[in-house]
Amino acid sequence: MPRPILATIHAEALRHNLARMREAAPDARVWAVVKANAYGHGIERVFEALRGADGFALLDLLEAERVRALGWRGPILLLEGVFEPRDLELCSRLGLWHAVHCDQQIDWLAAHKTQVPHRVFLKLNSGMNRLGFGPQRFRAAWARLDALPQVEEISLMTHFSDADGPRGIAHQLQVFEEATRDLPGERSLSNSAATLRHAADAQVRADWVRPGIAVYGSAPDFPSTMSPTGGCSRP
Ligand SMILES: *Cc1c(COP(=O)(O)O)cnc(C)c1O
Repeated sequence: MPRPILATIHAEALRHNLARMREAAPDARVWAVVKANAYGHGIERVFEALRGADGFALLDLLEAERVRALGWRGPILLLEGVFEPRDLELCSRLGLWHAVHCDQQIDWLAAHKTQVPHRVFLKLNSGMNRLGFGPQRFRAAWARLDALPQVEEISLMTHFSDADGPRGIAHQLQVFEEATRDLPGERSLSNSAATLRHAADAQVRADWVRPGIAVYGSAPDFPSTMSPTGGCSRP
């Protein structure tokens, strides 16, 4: 017999968490970040509770298909963009918005035949050092995208590495402001920790916030807000 472990998902708690994110970022739109499999909950189990979000942000194209199959007609954003050229066909067909974080993805777009121009989120690497164009190369990438008939709208995004840590977000915010100054387009910067801690600042909440872990009920502030008696013993 497999271990008899049961997880109970409270839909009303998910709704509450999403509402908290809205409160923290008034007049920003809210992506419910799904990453993969809704942080382990399973997208089908949480979809109804999270459909009050303005969009779903996820990694896997098959999961995007599943969200469309659940009847979601609103925005879906592929946080890492496409993984191969033919993924763009699915984006065209399902109206998926996608991140663009490297030149190869722009090459693929330039070669993509589509009737439906795409909405892309151009990603700046402002210090997370995982994905995105560095500040020196960001504008050239923007200009390339802007010249493509396949692209209808370019939004600007970055991801904080230390929103929940002592280093904070100021250094990355400055890099983002400098790299994107005067560029048109909507902006999206904040994960859960930045939304909860810093979204009173209009530049931080911007047009879209992207909370993930907090939507599912985890404090993004571990360990600074956990007391040693909070059920978590440290040596
Ligand atoms: C995971 C992720 C988020 C959400 O981060 P949390 O810390 O879970 O809120 C937002 N944006 C991107 C690009 C991500 O990969």
